[in-house]
Amino acid sequence: MPNDFKILNQKVGLGETVTINMDIARLTTRSKIDIPIIVSRGNAPGPCLLLIGGIHGDETNGIEIVRQIIAAGYHKPEIGTIICIPLLNVFGFLNQTREFPDGRDLNRMFPGSTTGSSASKFAYHLMTKVIPKVDYCIDYHTGGAQRFNFSQVRINGTDNETLELAKVFGAPYIVFSKSQEKTFRNSMVALGKKVLLFEGGKSLNLDKVVTKMGIQGAINVIHHLGLRNFSHKILNTSTENPPKVIKTSKWIRAKHSGMYRSYVSAGQKVEKGVKLGSISDPYGEYEKVFKNPQEGYILNSNHSPVVIQGDALFHIGFE
Ligand SMILES: [Zn+2]
Repeated sequence: MPNDFKILNQKVGLGETVTINMDIARLTTRSKIDIPIIVSRGNAPGPCLLLIGGIHGDETNGIEIVRQIIAAGYHKPEIGTIICIPLLNVFGFLNQTREFPDGRDLNRMFPGSTTGSSASKFAYHLMTKVIPKVDYCIDYHTGGAQRFNFSQVRINGTDNETLELAKVFGAPYIVFSKSQEKTFRNSMVALGKKVLLFEGGKSLNLDKVVTKMGIQGAINVIHHLGLRNFSHKILNTSTENPPKVIKTSKWIRAKHSGMYRSYVSAGQKVEKGVKLGSISDPYGEYEKVFKNPQEGYILNSNHSPVVIQGDALFHIGFE
């Protein structure tokens, strides 16, 4: 029956918005940990879109995007269902770390199991109790540590509907990147779900431009899927300035350790031979400038003032 919509053993009627607390874990003090899941149904059945942030507990910008979508009421569809999970890894968030308390990366634990680690059980619970309802998903992430990602949507690049959705989202870059084993995206794609992975900003940081892009992308996708008419909020930037599709990419790493300064910014095009930055000692005697080996676009830039040899400094993408 299309009107019978049950999630985590709770019924959600047409036109209803409910917050369901997924209660599957406790702190070491035995305090219960709730993961709020906000389910909003339109007045008629239709597709289901999941907006999820904070699989990595320190990726605050993704959490903020889903939070603002809820605060503005954009998560209430006319048709179909929108499920919001602003913060999946509450443990990591409390500790301001990427990982689970057992040191595991939740995003390498999917689809999970009933007998594995706590992160694995947690992943399994999400996959079996919530995900069966979901058709489409936007998974919000940021760069790690000081590495700032220019707004980009990552997709496997093999599915036409997902590519179309990525174009609709409207981020400046679409990056073809095969999902790694045991990631949430990989498990979702294996089940036939359409997943856009948004990357923008860096961990433990809020960036207004990135937040705006993440929200606008969700609005564009919600409208495109017919969940809600957002004609008045659609910006036609993607027709004037279509996203660049990045098919391959590589990291440029520090050849030396020392103080680091970059001469270029994330998002910009860089010609071959352009000076990208320099690494020096702190004493004014030694400084090495390094150049761009191949024309491309800067997808990620390291904001750290001090780097160690081998650290990733720039992620450069090629069309
Ligand atoms: Zn992440």
